[in-house]
Amino acid sequence: MTATAHELSYRLDQKRSINGAFPGPKSQALNERRAAVVAAGVSSGVPVYVEDADGGIVRDVDGNSFIDLGSGIAVTSVGASDPAVVAAVQDAAAHFTHTCFMVTPYEGYIAVAEQLNRLTPGDHEKRTVLFNSGAEAVENAVKVARLATGRDAVVAFDHAYHGRTNLTMALTAKAMPYKSGPSGGFGPFAPEVYRMPMSYPFREENPEITGAEAAKRAITMIEKQIGGDQVAAIIIEPIQGEGGFIVPAEGFLPALSAWAKEKGIVFIADEVQSGFCRTGEWFAVNHEGVVPDIITMAKGIAGGLPLSAITGRADLLDAVHPGGLGGTYGGNPVACAAALAAIGTMEQHDLNARARHIEEIALGRLNELAAEVSAIGDVRGRGAMLAIELVQAGSKEPNAELTKAVAAACLQEGVIILTCGTYGNVIRLLPPLVISDELLIDGLDVLAAAIKANA
Ligand SMILES: *Cc1c(COP(=O)(O)O)cnc(C)c1O
Repeated sequence: MTATAHELSYRLDQKRSINGAFPGPKSQALNERRAAVVAAGVSSGVPVYVEDADGGIVRDVDGNSFIDLGSGIAVTSVGASDPAVVAAVQDAAAHFTHTCFMVTPYEGYIAVAEQLNRLTPGDHEKRTVLFNSGAEAVENAVKVARLATGRDAVVAFDHAYHGRTNLTMALTAKAMPYKSGPSGGFGPFAPEVYRMPMSYPFREENPEITGAEAAKRAITMIEKQIGGDQVAAIIIEPIQGEGGFIVPAEGFLPALSAWAKEKGIVFIADEVQSGFCRTGEWFAVNHEGVVPDIITMAKGIAGGLPLSAITGRADLLDAVHPGGLGGTYGGNPVACAAALAAIGTMEQHDLNARARHIEEIALGRLNELAAEVSAIGDVRGRGAMLAIELVQAGSKEPNAELTKAVAAACLQEGVIILTCGTYGNVIRLLPPLVISDELLIDGLDVLAAAIKANA
């Protein structure tokens, strides 16, 4: 059965409304307090402070209601106050907020592992470990791959984003702002990380190159520069997130994963952003039937509570000695309860179908817009993970200025839009999967008007 909007119920009025200029007085006061105490290195895209959020609406402390097309970076797929998640969190917290799974364990951790082993691709024997953040999951996936293979080298890709810790900064492709800035760098970075060319259909020199050929290009470089038998892991986002919502050409991921298997290389799919119904499947690798050896998850996993996970082949994960994996907070009981509730909501409302429905509504409109506006170079994505890449009209020259102007114009009208991309020229859409059709369409209308007015 396909979920329709009327099956979803909302606590807040699902309507965009801006009361005069913003940031309003209360947000302005908070911005002043913040400047005195919060480090400048943490910045916010939207200068208002949140008081409430539900469905597709984020309401600020001055009573402005914004349409949320970002989900706090792909996190609140079930909404920011899904009743099932809220109830599960309240109940879990009323019993115990923490004991540490490594000290006195509890059922929620096991139940989440059972769900992840069931939902991730492949019917092989699997094991799961829980952590707190996406970066921590990535770090641990690489730890496991290195120990299990006895090899050091890790292959990542152009435009990759894997986090902000030392190893994940090294895996991440983009220098500014993640690895360095005008006042200096965050290095030295972790060694034995090698970067290979991605399949980026819009920006290929040879637009005819197939996914299999793009994989061959990377594989040849790996063989020449590292040696396949030296590589512990290949880590890749099946649809790249921060790097620009890049969907590799069909065949790229299957060819890469098949070669990894042949060479005994652990194929890690970083699904931190693309997982949990975001692309219309539980995981983005499902679109091409790829079965990763290890999959990293976070963001959408727990309805907004901090939780991350790695799920992978039992022989790999069980290669690690007892005590070799863990962490004080990993698999926090309240976060586990939230994850179980969020997964329940995804299944109950068939949010994979909702994501495909969002794609149907949004992709059509974006393609129409692209036919009218020559500054739209590319429209791409899957499910509710969609993007437009903006260029100087008549070329492929990235247009970051226009991208910024469009996001700012949308915000002025009460629509939260995120940008991304190696060149800062991609507008990405990540609405909560529970957003109503009406709100989504209103948000897309605002986006279309902002692009037309600024292009
Ligand atoms: C956000 C993200 C991460 C890092 O997750 P954090 O929870 O911010 O540490 C890693 N990989 C991908 C693909 C991401 O989108």
